[in-house]
Amino acid sequence: MPFSIDWIIVIILVINAGSSSLKYQLIDTDEPKMLAKGLCERVGSADSYIRHGADKEERIFEQYMADHKEALEVVFNALITSERSGITSIDQIDAIGHRIVHGGNYFDSSVLIDDDVIAKITELCDLAPLHNPPALNCINVCMELAPHTPQVAVFDTSFFQSLPPSAYMYPLPYDLCMKHGIRKYGAHGTSHRYIAQRCAALMERPLEDLKIITCHLGNGCSMSAVDHGIAVDTSMGFTPLDGLMMGTRCGSVDPAIIPYLMNKEGLTAAQVNDLMNKQSGLLGVSGVSNDMRDVRKGAEAGNERCELAYDMYAHSIRKVLGQYMVEMAGVDAIVMTAGVGENCDRMRRIVFAGLQPLGIILDQEKNRAKHHGKERFISRDNSPVKIIVIPTNEEFMIAQDTLEIVQGLK
Ligand code: ADP
Repeated sequence: MPFSIDWIIVIILVINAGSSSLKYQLIDTDEPKMLAKGLCERVGSADSYIRHGADKEERIFEQYMADHKEALEVVFNALITSERSGITSIDQIDAIGHRIVHGGNYFDSSVLIDDDVIAKITELCDLAPLHNPPALNCINVCMELAPHTPQVAVFDTSFFQSLPPSAYMYPLPYDLCMKHGIRKYGAHGTSHRYIAQRCAALMERPLEDLKIITCHLGNGCSMSAVDHGIAVDTSMGFTPLDGLMMGTRCGSVDPAIIPYLMNKEGLTAAQVNDLMNKQSGLLGVSGVSNDMRDVRKGAEAGNERCELAYDMYAHSIRKVLGQYMVEMAGVDAIVMTAGVGENCDRMRRIVFAGLQPLGIILDQEKNRAKHHGKERFISRDNSPVKIIVIPTNEEFMIAQDTLEIVQGLK
């Protein structure tokens, strides 16, 4: 590819394409600093719009975007015309990093995008039908609009390619698993990798010396065991439906419930899939909401199903916590991130309640303190296991990988 890498790489555009959305951030990797960010929503619908800018400077523009190509044109235009982003032409973007949901067994790290990478991401569309196709679209459009700008793919799954077969295989007929690529791939890998790295930095110890359990608790929830810098297990599986109870997803359930429900309710496979992905979790149990804030309010007001949903959510986290402590024969730090992990002090209190005998001692005051989105320790100073809240930053991680790969081209 005709890249002339003789500049100092500074400005990186990070793109995260969903089925009908497109998130972006422009990052100055020198400081590092976020220069601009935004989100195109409802791409492909008549009521599509773009939110551009951060916090108080955020502006919303109604703007019809028929597809991801039009969305990217709108994004590039917003970036070069807004003062704060500091660029006036696409050429000032040194590299582009794309979040790719599924890298299958092909990618155990981020890569420079070339024809072979594109072919493999295309092949994996079956495993991530809502995410890999729009990401591919964005890659192709960027190649058209910025043909001399190198592009890097950063995969959600690559962090978990280090899992041992005993953790990633399912006890189903082996030949069928091989034939259909059925194994645990995990998800949220970029977030887990970021918070594990930040955890080591905050503890002022090498990542390679630590046993860390990372908890990403947002709308989607997952946990992973990071043993001396290597991911050895994770709660999401073949798909992001597995593992913890989530906002609308059920997580792990007895698999026999699926054919039983299909028979009893006359559901198709697609209907039961929808039920487990969109009508379960906090929403399904509480009957009130998939949003933890509403469920928490309901529980505080004495709604029994909200209370039940709240307790089940904590129980599902505690089970995996125990599992990973055994798998790693101990733990040095537990990291909490994403909407619930960062903000819900009451959920953290329930999750860590009574774990003093395991060396996990939550500091109630630190847990409750106002934090303004800052990284912070919430365990007692004398707690053998540290509990740390770290706001995740997948975009920064994607920018960092992109920078490293593109610098390597020089
Ligand atoms: P996503 O996976 O969509 O990125 P987020 O990381 O934004 O999700 O997390 C969304 C979840 O975080 C929602 O359930 C929301 O209720 C919860 N959340 C956000 N702030 C709080 C808070 N202050 N207390 C409890 N839950 C919160």
